[in-house]
Amino acid sequence: MLDSDSIQNRFHRFSLPSIVRLQVLIFSFAIGFSFFHCQLEKISEPPSVISLPPESNQPLPSSERLEWQKIKETVWIHRSFGTFGGKVYSANGLVVLSNKGAVVIDTPWTESQTEELFSAIQTKFQKEILFLIVTHAHDDRMAGVPLFQKRNIPVYSTSLTAKLAKERGFGKTNPILDIQTRFAMGNESIEVFFPGHGHSADNIVVWLAQTHILFGSCLVKALDAENLGNVKEADLNEWPNSVKRVLSRYPDAEVVVPGHGDWGKLDLLRHTIRLLVSPNH
Ligand SMILES: [Zn+2]
Repeated sequence: MLDSDSIQNRFHRFSLPSIVRLQVLIFSFAIGFSFFHCQLEKISEPPSVISLPPESNQPLPSSERLEWQKIKETVWIHRSFGTFGGKVYSANGLVVLSNKGAVVIDTPWTESQTEELFSAIQTKFQKEILFLIVTHAHDDRMAGVPLFQKRNIPVYSTSLTAKLAKERGFGKTNPILDIQTRFAMGNESIEVFFPGHGHSADNIVVWLAQTHILFGSCLVKALDAENLGNVKEADLNEWPNSVKRVLSRYPDAEVVVPGHGDWGKLDLLRHTIRLLVSPNH
């Protein structure tokens, strides 16, 4: 847990036209920037593929309906389903509820499930959506972005994800996220952290300081994952180091949510490292 006073002092504040007050902390300024730019240079030729293989190897029974899992009163998983190779797989995103409105982390895998997400947030939670954060430029994270744009809901990403998303036809995002960015919305705060290349060059994780929930997205594998899934854009050497950075940054995480499969505790991070260092992956 970070000391809130020191965070407060280190924050560089600026305001957005929306009701959201955004606080940005640029962490390890010079080192952070050069690190991030290294990552940018690494993917000079990103693949043009839009539909990517799933990150879990466990196909599920066919279902196109969005599912909800409650972690805490204010934090819910939206679980969507996508088809790859004739099989259906699930993907996890989050909805964080504050007294100012809802924040969505990653869109469902399809546009129709994104429509379901909108109506559920309205009816189930009675909240307006403040903004969307996307954790990397893959379709299980961004397929619904055009629908957010249609509703004029801000979509935030890192600059690398914005660049890749544009090339892949996922729509335009606002690239305000840095190595570490923190948003304060009323009684909740959301921290975004880029730990380095893992599943993809642009993968970020999201930390909810109030509830100690870590959304690992596709950087983190579920405990029952027996392999790394889609490694098309992965850096298998750097991935364990990136997971270790997440582990040492959020040692007090109580819940860890992977990109696919069931949520658990910090052992999901250690399991991901084991998969990476095992010779059988
Ligand atoms: Zn992915």
